[in-house]
Amino acid sequence: MAHRFVPGEELSQAIEAARACNKSGMSASLDHLGENVITREDAERARAAYTEALEAIAAQAVEANVSLKLTHLGLDLGEDFCAEQLRAVTRRAAELGNFVRVDMEGSAYTARTLRMIHAARAETGAVGTVIQAYLYRSEEDVRDLLGIGCRIRLVKGAYREPASIAFRRKKDVDANFIKLMKILLPSGTYHALATHDPKMIEAAIRFAAEQNITKDKFEFQMLYGIRADLQTLLVRQGYRVRVYIPFGNDWFPYFMRRLAERPANLLFFLRNLFGGNAPPEAGFQ
Ligand SMILES: Cc1cc2nc3c(=O)[nH]c(=O)nc-3n(C[C@H](O)[C@H](O)[C@H](O)COP(=O)(O)OP(=O)(O)OC[C@H]3O[C@@H](n4cnc5c(N)ncnc54)[C@H](O)[C@@H]3O)c2cc1C
Repeated sequence: MAHRFVPGEELSQAIEAARACNKSGMSASLDHLGENVITREDAERARAAYTEALEAIAAQAVEANVSLKLTHLGLDLGEDFCAEQLRAVTRRAAELGNFVRVDMEGSAYTARTLRMIHAARAETGAVGTVIQAYLYRSEEDVRDLLGIGCRIRLVKGAYREPASIAFRRKKDVDANFIKLMKILLPSGTYHALATHDPKMIEAAIRFAAEQNITKDKFEFQMLYGIRADLQTLLVRQGYRVRVYIPFGNDWFPYFMRRLAERPANLLFFLRNLFGGNAPPEAGFQ
C-alpha cells in the first residue's frame, strides 16, 4: 500500500522516480523520510543521506532538489547541533548549484525552524522553507521571510493543531491559503504552491493571469502518487510542476498523514488489510 506514496526505500529508486517525472515534464524534490531522531548518529546518518542525494542528483543530471525535516537532522538534540548539520547540507547544495527546502513540521517547531532559516539564509540563497496556511501566525511569517528574499512553499498544513493557534475549518484554511498566495505570487521571488486542491489551483491560475504573472515565475507542487492526472494537466497547460518524492525505510508516519488526509484512501487501505473487495487501483488517489 505504501508504494502508492513512496516509490521505494533506496535512493536509486527515488532517482528513477524523479527521472520518470522529468520525462513527463516535471521536476522533483527528494525527501529522505525520517523525523524526530533521538541520537546524534541517526541525525548524522540523515545528513549524509542528504548530501549523497544531492550528489546523485548532480551525477545523474536529474532535475530535482531535496526537501528535509529539521527534526530528522537532530533539532530535538539542540539548535546549534542542528544548525551545523543543516549548514553541511546547504553548503553542498550551493556548491552543486542546487537547493534545499526545509519542510515545516508541527507548531512546536515553527519558531525554531524560522530562526534556523534566517541563520541559513544569511550564508546562502540555496535554502527555502514552507509556510502553513492553517496557522494564524503565517501572514506575519510570510512578510518576514519575503523581507529576506526567502523562497516559500505554501501548503495548507498537515499536523493536528489546536484552535488557539490554527484555523480548524477547511473553508478558513482555504481562504488563508488564497490570501497568502496573493501576497507571494507578486513578490518577485520564485515560490511554490503545494496543493492537490483544484480550487486553490484555479484561484492561483486566475490571480496570476489577472496580475500578468507569467507561468515561469512560480511552480505547483504535489506529492508522489496523488492526483497524477492533475499534475499532467497542469504540465500540458504550460505550468511548472514539481513532484515531492519520499524515499527511505522510515515511511510509516508519512504514510499515516497521507491516509488521514483522505478518508477514501483510509477505507481502501482497510479493505486491503482485511482482504475484502478492494476497488480497482485507479480508485485510489
Ligand atoms: C509538495 C508538498 C509538500 C508539502 N510539505 C508540507 C510541509 O512541509 N509541512 C506540512 O505541514 N504539510 C506539507 N504538505 C501537506 C499539506 O500541508 C497538506 O496536508 C496536503 O497537501 C493536503 O492538502 P491539499 O492542499 O492537497 O488539500 P485538501 O484540502 O486536503 O484536499 C483537497 C483535495 O485534494 C485532493 N487530495 C488531498 N490530499 C489527498 C490525498 N492524500 N489523496 C488523494 N487526494 C488528495 C482531493 O481531491 C481533495 O478533495 C505538503 C504537501 C505537498 C503537496
